[in-house]
Amino acid sequence: MQQENKQTEMMTMKNDNKPKKVLFGTNGVRGIIGEGMNPELVMKIGLALGSMIQGRVAIGRDTRTSGEALAAAMRSGLLASGCDVIDLGILPTPALQYLVREHYDGGAMITASHNPPDYNGVKVIEGDGTEMDDTRTIALESLIFSEDITMADWKNVGKLTDESDRIEEYIRAIISHFPTDCCRNMIVVVDPGSGPAAATTPEILRRMGCTVHTINGRFDGTFPGRLPEPSPEGLSLLSETVIATGAAFGVAHDGDADRAVFVDETGSFMNENLTFAMLARAACATHPGMVVTPVSTSDVIREVAAGYGCPTIYTPVGSISVARTMLSLIQKGETVVFGGEGNGGQIFPNHQFCRDGGMTAAAMAELVAGSAQSISSLADEIPSYTMIKEKIYSDDPEGLFLKVRRACQSLEIDETDGIHIRWGDAWALIRPSGTEPFIRLYAESRDPKRAEEVKDYILSLL
Ligand code: MG
Repeated sequence: MQQENKQTEMMTMKNDNKPKKVLFGTNGVRGIIGEGMNPELVMKIGLALGSMIQGRVAIGRDTRTSGEALAAAMRSGLLASGCDVIDLGILPTPALQYLVREHYDGGAMITASHNPPDYNGVKVIEGDGTEMDDTRTIALESLIFSEDITMADWKNVGKLTDESDRIEEYIRAIISHFPTDCCRNMIVVVDPGSGPAAATTPEILRRMGCTVHTINGRFDGTFPGRLPEPSPEGLSLLSETVIATGAAFGVAHDGDADRAVFVDETGSFMNENLTFAMLARAACATHPGMVVTPVSTSDVIREVAAGYGCPTIYTPVGSISVARTMLSLIQKGETVVFGGEGNGGQIFPNHQFCRDGGMTAAAMAELVAGSAQSISSLADEIPSYTMIKEKIYSDDPEGLFLKVRRACQSLEIDETDGIHIRWGDAWALIRPSGTEPFIRLYAESRDPKRAEEVKDYILSLL
């Protein structure tokens, strides 16, 4: 079994003394059903998580066909460890995170996010609603591998409660951030991709005053309309429906609705760094403060934030790093107004410290309704950048990093995550992939030719 291979891998890991996650990736553990991912593994995660939390744990799932089998295993593990389990049913990951922060000691979301239908997995949520960080995840993993878990005796096994109607609280929490009826008469098309946001995003926008048309709006783990990844190719029906209905824009979510991507009123897919910049600009214009994002994000964010005197703070790649950095800056007394990644995952600190696709859709609706412009003309006000991404397969990533470090030592280098090299008019980043055996290369400049040159230069070093 995959987890056993991973365990061997963990035992034989040389080179680096720092403990690393082996089962969990950037956002939870994922695998193919019947192969790496199965109820046995999920029950072990439930037992280990339950012995760490020892309290009331909420569980939720996305719409995948394997969701109920894995949720049952998670319930079983948690209950046997002595935790009370609150089943929230099918709901977006950010809805579970919001409800955990409000009511429970922890949470587990059965989801494989944007992965294809044959995948499933688990995201682990702390009592404050954030995803579990690396240190705690490593502790959780060592409990899973050790199998040294004490089960509760017959008097102390947990109780199961169904509180699936709580999804209404999440919807209300989002609309509470916007003026009543702020989007009156605006037409919007929502594509939840047969995922859990079918129960939330159309309702949120409707209550804000929008006229909402929904496609792929029924829970369906076979994903008949499109795959869980909201790629431009998968969103042709959304584009057609936007044009046919004269909508102001269309919004689509990934499989667990922590991300939101947009098509404009002409049906064109909008780059996620661009929509991030539009929302960051709106946040900075209302309330100056810091913007937090990973080192892999486009410079466009830095540029729009700087236009309002707002600094941009960089973190390692991954929404957990962004969310935790935002929290710790606020705890130090800083004002943080916005955060997120250039993949449609946006974090609104006045709402909660995780990516929230429903909140992102609502914020975009308010932004467009409140301006006298179309979404595409709002987008035209954002400076344009060219970012190139490549994958490099290598047996010796450390050797490659050393070469780049040597060749670029006279340049501005940042090692927050991988190696980030900055020239006056461009930057490049190389970093090992969090989940697969290759190195990612990013190169960006306002000038497309310059982005190409920078990419070619780094490739020539490798
Ligand atoms: Mg997701």
